Amino acid sequence: MKALVYHGKEDMRVESVPDPTPRDARSALVKVERAAICGSDLHLYHGDMPVPPGLVVGHEFVGEVMETGSDVANVRVGDHVLVSGVIGCGQCKRCVRGEVVRCERKQTQVFGVGPDLPGGQAEAVAVPGADHAIRPIPEGVSVEQAVLLTDILPTGYFGARNADIEPGDTVVVIGAGPVGLLALLSAQLFGAARILVVDRVPERLALAKELGGIPVPAAEADATIAELTNEQGADRVIEAVGSDATILKAIDWVRPAGTVSVIGVNTSPSVPFPMVLALMKDLTFRIGLVPVPELWPALIPLVASGRLQPERVFTHRMGLSEGAEAYRLFSAREDGILKVLLDPSR
Ligand code: NAD
Ligand code: ZN
Ligand code: ZN
Repeated sequence: MKALVYHGKEDMRVESVPDPTPRDARSALVKVERAAICGSDLHLYHGDMPVPPGLVVGHEFVGEVMETGSDVANVRVGDHVLVSGVIGCGQCKRCVRGEVVRCERKQTQVFGVGPDLPGGQAEAVAVPGADHAIRPIPEGVSVEQAVLLTDILPTGYFGARNADIEPGDTVVVIGAGPVGLLALLSAQLFGAARILVVDRVPERLALAKELGGIPVPAAEADATIAELTNEQGADRVIEAVGSDATILKAIDWVRPAGTVSVIGVNTSPSVPFPMVLALMKDLTFRIGLVPVPELWPALIPLVASGRLQPERVFTHRMGLSEGAEAYRLFSAREDGILKVLLDPSR
């Protein structure tokens, strides 16, 4: 089959690779219909993650079930499904509840970041633990929405949930990438009164405004946040970038007894943490990898009913054969790109 393969820093190629083979009787084979590129894939593309050359990448994909193992009960051949970008053993108590990041057997894995679990920017994927990693795409959910349910909509929602937002709160979201924008939409659900969205890219700030946020150019953020909060700081800050600088800003911008919720993936071995400031602020600081299936029972109905419309983040639709160029564009933030959808049939 054809797949996007990592060959080293800024070197992604579309190549022929061996077809995936299901691991065991609890696995399923999924023919990929659409896949997306995530900001997390950019960390890999930039050489910030230790991944072996030759790896098939991608953890956001939906498709059709082609084959199921004899122990798979919840999905059938021919189902059109969404697949969680992160999975656990699929059998322990926590995995069964969808809490795959807290897998009791410590088998939490993300597709397309290591050789044990090749990714979904490909024509097909073998999905282990299919009963818990896969859901049929429900009525009322489009294919593009389904792709967003495999990772970044749950991530944005997780960021907002972890921020302890109460009705009337002022929230700052740092980063107006697709993840930050979906954190904005999610923060609205929790009753935030004002959501300031900080970024450096003008088109992204414009979309944040269209989606109901207050756009704040990064260079003006210190002054604007101080002014809009009477120098008190924001009630909650959601960090959706993944840099050291933005984690420090989040701690700086939150009010005393407020909450910082980090969803950006930071690949630094350590980040300087301002302990005295955190102590004096009585700070709550949360960070985590998204437990995708745990959040489906909340998010699938919100999308199916039209209450959440995450699909606005897609700006580019390309063939898998154009995958290398898609990575280049996304990395360079050229052409107004925000999120790319890849079609493996092209
Ligand atoms: P992205 O790269 O498109 O977006 C990042 C945004 O941050 C960009 O718009 C960029 O302009 C902005 N930015 C960079 N430096 C900034 C600064 N100093 N101040 C303000 N804005 C700044 O990526 P994305 O797809 O939106 O993903 C965002 C982050 O979320 C990534 O780190 C990704 O790895 C992470 N992520 C985490 C999870 C999780 O489970 N926690 C899941 C998916 C993605
Ligand atoms: Zn992702
Ligand atoms: Zn488990």
